[in-house]
Amino acid sequence: MEVLISGKTKLILGGEVASAAGSMRADLLIEGEKIKAQGMPGAFAGLEVDETIDASGKLLLPGLIDPHLHFNSPFMGTVSVHDFSNGTAAAAFGGITTLIDFSTQPKGGSIMGNLSQKEGEAEGKTYIDWSMSGILLDASPETLAEIPQLIRAGCPTYKCFTTYKHSGRLMDDAGIFRILRTTAEYGGMLMIHCEHDATIDRCLEKELSAGHFASIYHARSRPAAAENMAIQRLVEMLKQEPAPSYVVHTSTAESVEIIQMARAQGLPIHSETCTHYLALTEEKLEGPNSQFYICSPPLRTQRDVDALWQGLATGCLEVVSSDDAGVPTKDNLRLGQGRFDKVPSGMSGIEARLSILYTEGVHKGRISLPRLVEVSSTNIARLFGLYPEKGHLGPGADADVVIYDPSGSWAMTSKSLHMNTDFCPFEGWTIQGHVESVLCRGAYVIRDGRLVGKPGHGQRAFRRLTF
Ligand code: MN
Ligand code: MN
Repeated sequence: MEVLISGKTKLILGGEVASAAGSMRADLLIEGEKIKAQGMPGAFAGLEVDETIDASGKLLLPGLIDPHLHFNSPFMGTVSVHDFSNGTAAAAFGGITTLIDFSTQPKGGSIMGNLSQKEGEAEGKTYIDWSMSGILLDASPETLAEIPQLIRAGCPTYKCFTTYKHSGRLMDDAGIFRILRTTAEYGGMLMIHCEHDATIDRCLEKELSAGHFASIYHARSRPAAAENMAIQRLVEMLKQEPAPSYVVHTSTAESVEIIQMARAQGLPIHSETCTHYLALTEEKLEGPNSQFYICSPPLRTQRDVDALWQGLATGCLEVVSSDDAGVPTKDNLRLGQGRFDKVPSGMSGIEARLSILYTEGVHKGRISLPRLVEVSSTNIARLFGLYPEKGHLGPGADADVVIYDPSGSWAMTSKSLHMNTDFCPFEGWTIQGHVESVLCRGAYVIRDGRLVGKPGHGQRAFRRLTF
């Protein structure tokens, strides 16, 4: 094959290159920050390159993208454990090369103001590429006018909540309608946390007045019904005001059905689930360290876990995110005081996502390798406006490459990971294969299991929606 090359070049030889469409043995030529070409094994023989990497027996995946996590995030009297330095390092160990955090509108204030501040926190500190989605707390004319500004700033996705009235984050139905209309008009995508607030209020009141404070009552106070009802309401709203919408952290079997039916009717609804909903059940809320497994929506039942895997396999669920939001364990204990309603909810999982997806998904035969690539990278690139730079390993794409060695197994523990926490939700799990090396735009971030990247290598990704 004849190729003209210039700049720093790398040739990755003999790996199994995986894409959303399939996987095959191929050699990968990298020039500077980009994939220059893919060729049949041996296609680039004789070509002079700066570095040759032997990847025989290894899988080559497009760098993972995480569209849902919370870095440097103040919450219930504490702050999430990851910042843009330690969080992006842990992400890279987990095969992630691009992540999208949130910038939250201050109550009654400007989201654009907060976006510059949050971007300032990330700028120069990240090992991998990054972007922000907005979080909208109201739908005032001033806030709606900022939606096209967000889109022009390369942040065309923004989230709102149907719950958390008591902390001032609930978006009422009238507000959601206005945001949907503005979204349709300017071409953004609404991310939405769906749990019906009044249902939670009622259940919470019932449990607390009965003196039920143990962790399992967190699940009872936020039942599947609350999530199902909120998603069903969103579907009915989309029939009236259709606009691209993305349900975050889908966790129930019924939600999968509701979303599947809405998609069959042609409604522009998308959804993700998260690593922990695919791997853990509410039994964790009755075992040791139960308070560290409190997250919202709560962990569900095995029946839900099975339905989520099925939704992933059949295509209804399009994305798996981490929703990384752990707080220091000492703060969880100090603030929780043995009461589920006082515990700052959220778990750290940014590094574990690929390990769990590969082991529980591909290795155990629940999803194919191409489907893993799709739900952890390609679909996210397409839905969040990062395609075609990110999400695949075709010519012209950014050279964001994960070299995964599928052989061998190891025990995941908080000590074997690099997250800034002493709690691992998947403590003791046997993981098949491991992330060997990770390149972000042609440069090693992880090499043979060691962090070699530089904080500041990561760049702000400008996102543009194309649907
Ligand atoms: Mn949420
Ligand atoms: Mn979240």
